[in-house]
Amino acid sequence: MKKNVLFIAAALILNACGAGKALMSVEKSTIVASIDLINVVEDRVQVDLNPGAFTTSTVIFRIPKTVPGTYSSDNYGKYIQDFKALDYKGAELKATKLDDNSWSIANGVNLDKVQYWVNDTYDTENEVEDAVFSPAGTNIAVGSNFMLNLHGFVGYFDGFKEVPYSILINKPADLIATTTLSIEPNRKPDSLWDGFLAKRYFDVIDNPIMYAKPNTESFEINGITVTLSLFSPNNVYKAADLKERMKSMMGAQKKFLGEVDSTKEYNILLYLSDVNIPDANGYGALEHHTSTVVVLPEAMDIGRLEQSMVDVVSHEFFHIVTPLSVHSKEIQYFDFNDPKMSQHLWMYEGTTEYFANLFQVQQGLISEDDFYVRMLGKINNAEFYDDNMSFTEMSKNILEQPYEPNYANVYEKGALINMCLDIILREKSNGEKSMLWLMKELSMKYGTDVPFEDDALFGEIVSITYPEVDVFLKQHVIGDTPIDYEVYFEKVGLATNDVQESTGYFFDGQIPYMDVDVQNDSVVFIRENIELNSFFEDLKLQGGDIFKTINGQDINLETLRPIIGESFAWTPETEISMTVVRDGEIVAVEGVVGQPVKKVKKIVPLQELSQKTIDLRNAWLKN
Ligand SMILES: [Zn+2]
Repeated sequence: MKKNVLFIAAALILNACGAGKALMSVEKSTIVASIDLINVVEDRVQVDLNPGAFTTSTVIFRIPKTVPGTYSSDNYGKYIQDFKALDYKGAELKATKLDDNSWSIANGVNLDKVQYWVNDTYDTENEVEDAVFSPAGTNIAVGSNFMLNLHGFVGYFDGFKEVPYSILINKPADLIATTTLSIEPNRKPDSLWDGFLAKRYFDVIDNPIMYAKPNTESFEINGITVTLSLFSPNNVYKAADLKERMKSMMGAQKKFLGEVDSTKEYNILLYLSDVNIPDANGYGALEHHTSTVVVLPEAMDIGRLEQSMVDVVSHEFFHIVTPLSVHSKEIQYFDFNDPKMSQHLWMYEGTTEYFANLFQVQQGLISEDDFYVRMLGKINNAEFYDDNMSFTEMSKNILEQPYEPNYANVYEKGALINMCLDIILREKSNGEKSMLWLMKELSMKYGTDVPFEDDALFGEIVSITYPEVDVFLKQHVIGDTPIDYEVYFEKVGLATNDVQESTGYFFDGQIPYMDVDVQNDSVVFIRENIELNSFFEDLKLQGGDIFKTINGQDINLETLRPIIGESFAWTPETEISMTVVRDGEIVAVEGVVGQPVKKVKKIVPLQELSQKTIDLRNAWLKN
């Protein structure tokens, strides 16, 4: 982003002296947005938007209905209150609300500025249906945190999305801003107003700002300065706690990407929410060109927080490849209030999610087995969505029924589509070409400022790859034929098999095979809808059976506990007798306890493979 010192100086003078600007037209002037974080009233912040002079009689002002990357209609205008349009003398002009997000202002030639109050989203997420996804939401917490996802605070005038913005923020002295917006460098250090510049409206919303007490770490990875700023409401975590893990993870990402040209600066704005009060609960992150907003619960232990940050931030960072670099015109010229969706979510989200897993195995952060577990997890999760829905059709209509509830499949089947394409590319090119290679080719041809035609992308991809890619896309991405993943696993010498894994007698790890019926004398019964281990299976016990006696002892929660304790010392030959109640009848069983095992599906390497197949798998996972 370009810093322009003179520009903001001019803007400030105009802002201070309204009368002089009647000579300026909007096209040439800067829109000055003032946000007052000092005088917060009833959890609301006042915003002033001061454009140049308009020459049209009617002026339309809008707050976004949707923003890039969210793929949902959120109507940020619903959080705007007491909207006023003022003329140069400070009198109110007639403003008519057209819909949740739009106002029509009469007598536009006299419009000096618009003024409104903004309510935040984080503390009302529990109360509203279809809450704004927290990483795209807003927070106003006096004294501690302001999450300025600026699309919730600053709007635009129809026809003037391309003019520059100057954003002035009146802020508490003890809170600091983290943002990748250009900072006005000539501000006096004692000024309570921060000043930022954005080249156009898109850049306003592409650069969120988080205000919080200083809790920030910066580090370098191959020419990128990464800043991690963290808000922890109960001071549980410091940015320093996550720094080393983030540094090694993002270093591995950079190595995976190789020479892909990317940003020189990247900010991670991490908001940890308090699960004990009404607070943000849409966990995850939203991508931007040079930053990401991440929301996670503060209650996570450090191990889980680190792993979530690795998975979430790596995904967001890979968005610099797509859609931030490789994207269609629908995204380049995004209509914030009447968006046309692209058909390529299989790539924007699917490729990104696939890379966020692939780089971890390629760079040695996880094992091949871990990677297979993740891919199998995606195959299982994809079963919750419509497998007979065309991915391109879904993508184009993602804001509508019945497509919208299938959105999250972009992270499951979307990633698997990319895995299959990756294997096809490796196979056809003797291991040399891959999805990463393809994305690099596309980002060389297109890029941040050069979008592709939505309908032309597949032709483009097929022209530089193989007929098999064409067939796959037509059948499984454009078409609605479910994918047989075994076909692709076999190419790299893998198969999904049932294997036996050991379990406890009464527990599978932390998960008990029993449950307690508190409504009914707190009897203990064997859980239903769970695959039982060999201990229960061999004794011919079933889900729903209520324990009555074990080895002659009457069973309730209290008397079962010591038996579970003893079971850790059982040998396979240990004998056991039990009675259970099944459908009102008492059933007696007896036998040896055996060595308890459970059946699980696993992706496993096939035996006796050709060197060619082994080489192909290595090219895929170890390249
Ligand atoms: Zn994403």
